[in-house]
Amino acid sequence: MKRYYQPEIETASREKILEIQNEKIVRQVRHVWDNVPYYRHLMEEKGVAPEDIRSVEDIHKLPFLSKADLREAYPYGLLGTDLKNCVRIQSTSGTTGRRVVAFYTQADIDLWEDCCARAIVAAGGTNEDVVQVCYGYGLFTGGPGLNGGSHKVGCLTLPMSSGNTERQIQFMMDLGSTILCCTPSYAAYIGESLAERGFKPEDNKLKAGIFGAEPWTEEMRREIEKSLGIRAYDIYGLTETSGPGVAFECEEQQGMHINEDHFYVEVIDPETGEVLPEGSRGELVFTSLDKEAFPLLRYRTRDICVLSRKPCSCGRTHIRMSKPMGRSDDMLIIRGVNVFPSQIETVLLNEGYTPNYQIMLDRERHNDTFDIYVEVSPDQFSDLMSQIQRMEKSLEAALRTMLGIGPKVHLVAPKTITRSEGKAVRVVDRRKLHD
Ligand code: ADP
Ligand code: ZN
Repeated sequence: MKRYYQPEIETASREKILEIQNEKIVRQVRHVWDNVPYYRHLMEEKGVAPEDIRSVEDIHKLPFLSKADLREAYPYGLLGTDLKNCVRIQSTSGTTGRRVVAFYTQADIDLWEDCCARAIVAAGGTNEDVVQVCYGYGLFTGGPGLNGGSHKVGCLTLPMSSGNTERQIQFMMDLGSTILCCTPSYAAYIGESLAERGFKPEDNKLKAGIFGAEPWTEEMRREIEKSLGIRAYDIYGLTETSGPGVAFECEEQQGMHINEDHFYVEVIDPETGEVLPEGSRGELVFTSLDKEAFPLLRYRTRDICVLSRKPCSCGRTHIRMSKPMGRSDDMLIIRGVNVFPSQIETVLLNEGYTPNYQIMLDRERHNDTFDIYVEVSPDQFSDLMSQIQRMEKSLEAALRTMLGIGPKVHLVAPKTITRSEGKAVRVVDRRKLHD
């Protein structure tokens, strides 16, 4: 039997979803116009008034909001209600610059936690599960979001936060955790640490993992599923729209259903801002349809992906987004060629290497240098220089084929690349120092 957290919404007909969206958008635009002078000015500049937005069909008339706007309006400029109505602040991880703070009323927290609860149920969660949350707690949205969702489903929740891997493993084994929530890079590290302690995948009680907050590849998914003996599900979100749970994977594992009753989604050409038809690759733009305290309209995420309305065998009707392949600002331009770290991860795992790697960029006499440090597994580890060199050359060739540009590969001993407990740091770019 298929299970949903909110079946009437998650499996609603297309007409019903549109009806909900149309009703909410009219109300939300009015709310923002009345309460957020910053956005009202943007609307005035574009010559749009609330009366012009009668349905989601009209959303394209509204101005975009960008991360630069959020920074400019920091901290209170986009607040949609009195501070006395707010009960929580969360903040971005600051991966790409100054942190953004987001505000929540109790209703905002409720809808966010509902979204996370949908994700947990989609991953097979029930009130019989033990959910180990090792996303960071605190300002970062990962811990609080999944924690709240887990409570809503009635799971026994372990609010571990990130780090202290020894304790994570002890609690996982002693208390029989069945669902693990953390970043995929930390999940891979936990898998590795379990193996090192002599545990086999079948020794733990885990059945599923809900992993997100950073880009990860299908190859990484298979690696984690194997090492932990689970099914690994993707979850997507960002602080600006609430946190994790904007979209989540179902048992199909073919893209993430976006919670369309709360978020209206568009994909645009990042250069021109033109709205692209379904199936095109472009930048995700979200409009929150019912958030009160931080009601962002047409927020440009810089995350690049593809949307699909293909029906899903799970019975959910909400549109699906592909795994974001990285943000537009994760994209590296190396000697004029566009490179995404996720492409490198795909090659490494396909060639039998570990997901522990770091990309190092620098500039030497006005030319970019491009080095990748890749850890070998203990059984690949070899003292024979000739063997290592041969392996490096062959990996360089595979990477050149994928990227169209050749890095210098350095294979390094097991355990020499720092593990991440939150979002992994894949790129060290020293080129800016020389500009
Ligand atoms: P920061 O922008 O500082 O990292 P957040 O913690 O709010 O702040 O992170 C949100 C971002 O994390 C998203 O915009 C996206 O780039 C990335 N992200 C979140 N979930 C996923 C996922 N499942 N796959 C790929 N990237 C993700
Ligand atoms: Zn589905």
